[in-house]
Amino acid sequence: MYSITHSEQVVLSFKEARHTVEQHAAGVQPIEKETVTLLAAVNRVLAEEIHADRDLPPFPRATRDGFAVRAEGVSRVPATLEVAGEIRAGDSPEKYEYSVDASHAIEIMTGAPVPRGADAVVMVEYTRRAGSRVEIQRSVKSAENVVPQAAECRAGQLLLSPGTRLSPAALGLAASVGKAQVQVYQKPRVAILSTGDEIIDVDKQPAANQIRNSNTYSLAGQLQAAGAVPVPLAIAPDRLEPLRALVHEGLNSDLLLISGGVSMGKYDLVEQVLSESGAEFYFTGAQIQPGKPVVFGRVGGRGTPTYFFGLPGNPVSTMVCFELFARAMIDALSGAGPTPMQFLQARLKSDVRTKTGLTRFLPAMLSGEFGEVEVELVRWQGSGDMVSTARANCYLVIPPDRERIAEGEMVAVLRTQA
Ligand code: AMP
Ligand code: MG
Repeated sequence: MYSITHSEQVVLSFKEARHTVEQHAAGVQPIEKETVTLLAAVNRVLAEEIHADRDLPPFPRATRDGFAVRAEGVSRVPATLEVAGEIRAGDSPEKYEYSVDASHAIEIMTGAPVPRGADAVVMVEYTRRAGSRVEIQRSVKSAENVVPQAAECRAGQLLLSPGTRLSPAALGLAASVGKAQVQVYQKPRVAILSTGDEIIDVDKQPAANQIRNSNTYSLAGQLQAAGAVPVPLAIAPDRLEPLRALVHEGLNSDLLLISGGVSMGKYDLVEQVLSESGAEFYFTGAQIQPGKPVVFGRVGGRGTPTYFFGLPGNPVSTMVCFELFARAMIDALSGAGPTPMQFLQARLKSDVRTKTGLTRFLPAMLSGEFGEVEVELVRWQGSGDMVSTARANCYLVIPPDRERIAEGEMVAVLRTQA
């Protein structure tokens, strides 16, 4: 039959599960490309190379207000120089036809091109202007307070490569080399299928036995923050027929996230339906809390295969599993280079006790400022508790071999999206 037998269950450690997803992510092709304006490009993934169209800086640039001089002319101070003129940001580097010599200075402003002959700028703080002359009170070394032409990059140089997620700094750089529009990868479309007979839409009045669908919304938020387009499907009841139809619909997207129905219960039918569709499963569980029954696999089909995650339905489990696993696949589908998981380190504010065996990701609160970051678990009622989780701003990571972590120890923290 189609259903997965117990012996076919593959339960991996957290790291093994994460590496499995990363390996598959490495083989994924990004979606099509599109061109967007630079203003719309923040956090998008670059699909083209961006080269410098000119030297940066394009001329030797003064980094201070002061006087452009030849360093040799002010090697002994005080030195009095003749002020030959003024050059400000926006003036041509050719403003003065002659070359500045050891007995002349030109008054210069930050960002202005250093005139020919001058090789340094004396800060205005170390000068005293007297009529057409200036007294220089401090020597400078050649090149001091000047960034030479092309010191940052040469015309033609590769500045940003495909696969780069465009940070604000990258946008600034693209702007500085004239890219009003950039080619980026299209955002992956990710289907969200919430399952469960007890689950109802958010705009319906629940009977006592019903639970409002919250996972579609938390996942949609996580997807948007991760740069994907959420495609919410109708809620699937725990019956084969409608579940099949919705799973098929979801497999038309670039990735399918299914919430609920992946535990070992009699009505947890998701794996059976995926099996029927010819799914390959790479794991059917991970040694984590929350989120242990998480499922990862792929349905081949004739076209490009579609990956799916079966996320345990408990609202916190769903969110944690998204962060731990689904996000890496979304990055890959978005064309972004591999994104290793990075944890912050913070000081534990009060003792934590757990059982060994699972890597735990427990809702917690980061606080403190500057270098002194502290973390504390939020009180919660387990992996269904959205009230506590919505108050948390991170997950405290507890390694599988720790029973007790003492107050004051440095611990790993997984930041959630702001
Ligand atoms: P399941 O993984 O289907 O066994 O569900 C585990 C728990 O999560 C149950 O208490 C469900 O009622 C709850 N749950 C499942 N799906 C959702 C959802 N979309 N929104 C809110 N709670 C859910
Ligand atoms: Mg269920």
